Amino acid sequence: MGLRLSGFLGFVLLCGVPHRTLAQARPLPGSDVQQIYQRLLPQIEKIPIFDHHSHAGFADDPDVDAMASPPGSAALRSRATNPELLAAAKALWGYPYDDFSPAHAKWLIQKKSELRKTRGQQYFSDILDQLNIERAAANRALMADYLDPRRFPWVFFADAFMWPFDNQQERLRNPDEEVYIPLQEKMLHRWMQQEGVSKLPASFAGYLGFVSRTLEDNQKKGGIAMKFEVAYFRTTRFADPPREQAEAAYQHFVNGGLPSQQEYRTFQDYLFRYLIREGGRLRLPVHIHSAVGTGDYFNLSESNIMNLENILRDPRYSGTIFVMIHGGYPYEHEAIWLAAMKNVYLDSSLMELWTYPSQFKHTLKQWLETFPEKITFGTDAFPYNEVLGAEESYWLGVQSSHSALAAALAEMISEGEVTESKALEMAHGYLHDNAMSLYPSLGQRKAD
Ligand SMILES: [Zn+2]
Repeated sequence: MGLRLSGFLGFVLLCGVPHRTLAQARPLPGSDVQQIYQRLLPQIEKIPIFDHHSHAGFADDPDVDAMASPPGSAALRSRATNPELLAAAKALWGYPYDDFSPAHAKWLIQKKSELRKTRGQQYFSDILDQLNIERAAANRALMADYLDPRRFPWVFFADAFMWPFDNQQERLRNPDEEVYIPLQEKMLHRWMQQEGVSKLPASFAGYLGFVSRTLEDNQKKGGIAMKFEVAYFRTTRFADPPREQAEAAYQHFVNGGLPSQQEYRTFQDYLFRYLIREGGRLRLPVHIHSAVGTGDYFNLSESNIMNLENILRDPRYSGTIFVMIHGGYPYEHEAIWLAAMKNVYLDSSLMELWTYPSQFKHTLKQWLETFPEKITFGTDAFPYNEVLGAEESYWLGVQSSHSALAAALAEMISEGEVTESKALEMAHGYLHDNAMSLYPSLGQRKAD
């Protein structure tokens, strides 16, 4: 009896079962949830972060995005009137005022421009240091010399290859496209300049060769992934046309003439699939904007993340890593099931800025309870204007995610779903390790 008892005690000690057993999960957190939250938060804040999706840069830098957002209706929290931005300005710069009146805002603009001059390439690295971000992926048209590439690995845009023809009809679809499509044309010309191509190749094979060379060269220049924001420009339902049809469209329209919408889409459907296959060959992960977007005419049903299920679950692309940027928001609860595919990951950026921590906590909790090893952290920091810059969005993104993450995990612990040490392991995975595992080249380069 004595022996059996000590054996049982030994088992309890070995398994590290705390005073609260994990045998049966409960539907409600206990009265300890606040305490667990307070205990977790400082530990979570100490975890070095990999920001999987951000747009580092200054508001006056046209290379921040390949696309400029026309004014659309912004969600409450993302408006310039958000009082949390005052907290950001105080925390980051010691802003001495309690409002952003034009006279006061001038203080902030001056402060930033002084630091921009004196700190040079360190300016944005300083922001990362303040927020315990080890590296932040910089999703930009081209890299900027004011960003340290060791801290800001480049994610380049790959959409422009899908718009090589006369885009008159594409532009006319709505006023947003009038803004977007010319920027895609500009981006394509930049890739052509980079590759020394003065005119689009006469043959389709020549065009695909040019596309592949651009991807390879961008990778050599430090690009760690290619990004699509195609949802802003057309439906994300991609058909599967044979090469001959895409080739016929190319031959027909490469030197001019207006393709019908169907002809253009067929060509694009093929090109998109070619690009993601190349992502597999080159070990270049594919990032896809998968959430609702800004602007007046963004079509939510045409860009629903589930439209991409045929691509993500296609065994032909199993060698390509897909990162679903913004986690399919507002369909993030369905989207997590796409991460069942071993090559599909979700990024949580934008959600933590557009929703409040109380709401974002539910998202994280469900994700952590489903595929915790497939979810990654991102801010979607972006320079909205001179006062509300990428700097403030990095701050808000990190604060919001830290608190929502601590709250989600505290509930999971209190409800008997995971141990505290398992919860912290999940936090490390989400904030850093899961994303880093996708970029072995970064593991070899030192961050500082
Ligand atoms: Zn973004």
